[in-house]
Amino acid sequence: MAGTAPSGALIVGAGIGGLACGIALRRAGLKVRLLEQADALAEVGAGLQLTPNATRHLRDFGLLDALEQVAVAPRALEVRDGRSFALLAHCDYAPMAARLGAPFLVVHRADLLAVLAEGARAAGCEMRLGARLQSLEPHGAGMRAVAAEGDGLIAETADIVIGADGVRSVVREHLHLGARPVFARRVAYRATIPLRADTPKDVRLFLGPDAHLVTYPVKSGTAVNVVAIVKQDRPVSRWSEPGEASAVHAAFAGWAPEVRALLQDAPAFLCWGLYDVDPLPRWSEGPITLLGDAAHAMLPFLAQGAAQAIEDAAALAAAIARGGATPAALRSYEAARQPRTARIQRGARRNAGIYHMKGPARLARDAVMRATGAGLLERYDWIYAG
Ligand SMILES: Cc1cc2nc3c(=O)[nH]c(=O)nc-3n(C[C@H](O)[C@H](O)[C@H](O)COP(=O)(O)OP(=O)(O)OC[C@H]3O[C@@H](n4cnc5c(N)ncnc54)[C@H](O)[C@@H]3O)c2cc1C
Repeated sequence: MAGTAPSGALIVGAGIGGLACGIALRRAGLKVRLLEQADALAEVGAGLQLTPNATRHLRDFGLLDALEQVAVAPRALEVRDGRSFALLAHCDYAPMAARLGAPFLVVHRADLLAVLAEGARAAGCEMRLGARLQSLEPHGAGMRAVAAEGDGLIAETADIVIGADGVRSVVREHLHLGARPVFARRVAYRATIPLRADTPKDVRLFLGPDAHLVTYPVKSGTAVNVVAIVKQDRPVSRWSEPGEASAVHAAFAGWAPEVRALLQDAPAFLCWGLYDVDPLPRWSEGPITLLGDAAHAMLPFLAQGAAQAIEDAAALAAAIARGGATPAALRSYEAARQPRTARIQRGARRNAGIYHMKGPARLARDAVMRATGAGLLERYDWIYAG
């Protein structure tokens, strides 16, 4: 088994969180290695909303210019009743961006990952692809990680280990925190479709009983990302699987023709089971900590999972810049982040109920939205200003 002398940070997982963490820790002066089980860095073919609390850090990492080349800054958020197509709220993003001093962007995940991967390489992160973490054991004051690579095993030693390995984190299992992913009885169907000339380049949210649909432009405005979330009691057997187009069309059969036309344009859907984890009171132990979905997987009803992973990366680097790559710095990072991420996890669960309301509750929700109007986005300043 090959090994290296202990030093610096070992990040398990090179997704959005792991790569952002690598860049942030390099900026704090640490030697950084990333272990990624996939043979190539890749993301699902879907989009992502990046709110100002995330883009602010991406700008600090020196990545905003590259990101803006491939992302879109949408003009407005439009909320409609998915069945009647009636407008419930229309909010321009410009005042929010001016108020909070950072843009709101929408981007294809593969494009964001490419920007982060390039940033990580340029920052000097070492990456080991095709290496799946299997176990962790103490090694002096640090840790030794064993990973499967090809037919063999490799070992890496480090002063600190950061588990950025997603909702099914192996690093989290090692910490015996008793956390387990909870199926939210909802699935997301995702598709990327070519942008029609008459499709507005806004973020559009269509609400209906037991379902909602979000669309926004990606790929420098040449394509539209569609996310349709529907209630489903049967869990998806894998995290994601090809989605049955007929199931999507059936779920939205009674919706407005404009909404159904959008779905008809989708060449294929990917179906994604929605899981989160109950907020963890703690997620660090000795020289090990967690970051992103591994620490606080959340439902996508506030569009914050990736943004919170990026915030984690900046907060961890700040704690290490103050206290060094020590267990105390990891605990101070966790203490700084846990109350906020737990609040957002709970808020996302609450929004699941609000988005999918039926009957009188739905009418009351719509009345509140109409009354709030352009002020809708300001209600989320506590997240976006973060
Ligand atoms: C439908 C949907 C819509 C969403 N929309 C938004 C949005 O608009 N905005 C937003 O901010 N967030 C959104 N999210 C959430 C966001 O996608 C996630 O929070 C984010 O991708 C988490 O990043 P991560 O790096 O923590 O984990 P992951 O993306 O899961 O990355 C984990 C990485 O670790 C690797 N890995 C796992 N196990 C091992 C191992 N044992 N050894 C080595 N490597 C390993 C994996 O291969 C992967 O590359 C959405 C989520 C869903 C489901």
